[in-house]
Amino acid sequence: MTQYAYLRGEFVPLAEANVNILTNSFQYGLSVFEGIRGNWNEEQEQMFLFRVREHYERMRGNCRILLTQIPPVEELCSITKELIRRCEYREDVYVRPLAYKSSEMIGTRLHDLESDFCAVTFPYGRHLASEECRAGVSSWRRLNGNCGIPAGKISGQYFNSAYAKTEAVKNGFDEAIVLNEAGYVAEACTENIFLVKAGCLLTPSISENILPGITRCSVIELAQNELGIEVIERSIERHELYIADECFLTGTAAHITPVVEIDRRSVGEGEVGPVTRRLQSLYQEVIRGRNGDYLHWCTPVY
Ligand code: PMP
Repeated sequence: MTQYAYLRGEFVPLAEANVNILTNSFQYGLSVFEGIRGNWNEEQEQMFLFRVREHYERMRGNCRILLTQIPPVEELCSITKELIRRCEYREDVYVRPLAYKSSEMIGTRLHDLESDFCAVTFPYGRHLASEECRAGVSSWRRLNGNCGIPAGKISGQYFNSAYAKTEAVKNGFDEAIVLNEAGYVAEACTENIFLVKAGCLLTPSISENILPGITRCSVIELAQNELGIEVIERSIERHELYIADECFLTGTAAHITPVVEIDRRSVGEGEVGPVTRRLQSLYQEVIRGRNGDYLHWCTPVY
């Protein structure tokens, strides 16, 4: 089975999908990316892309910030489906589209540079090393809006997540929880965060310098509409992490990952809590196209 990529307007074998080392984005990290999941449904022998339009709408917005050209959403969705079909995947996959400054020249700027769109897909199962995550609060702070764009999936900005991740892993945790400049909880390295307290869901609001996750938004809607759980978006203080009944992370790659320990303290009973479990199973049904009410979130590939 040949693995394909999309580059410079065509599908090519991955081994041939290469760029010159002078490519401007390679030098400065000025590119915009997304992470999209294709979820395999065994009974229907079908792959469903989860909220693919929303991912590409977010990507197009970020491209405007970076003055990067990108095809329209419909075309991006077609390219993605065709890419997976060519690879003939019949298991869960991850799609990584990237819009980058393709001019082969150095120069630190956004303007007067050519752009290209590329994408690659590969089989992808579990994202975090463990299904039950042990997290530590990072000494790094979340990028703030005066020196970057926290809401943007801009490659170069991921130094921030990478510093926090490596610090956490080297300190024996699976994942970092990163506070913002004001000292409130922002998110994990590449996931948003939720707490369960007295039957309600708490999550930092968009203004806390978080990345507005598509999984976050989906979980809020599912919790409210399907499980009747109240969701409160507000500032969360560090100590609230220690007294939460449950905690979980959300992200395209991580789905809904329970956090059972934070800074060496058990979260609740130190095991996956009932609200997290209910949301996990509902979310799995929804993303695999098994819940008729949410088929509008699922785009079939085959
Ligand atoms: N925060 C950051 C910094 C991320 O990179 C991601 C992954 N895109 C998320 C949160 C979760 O976003 P989503 O649910 O859209 O994948």
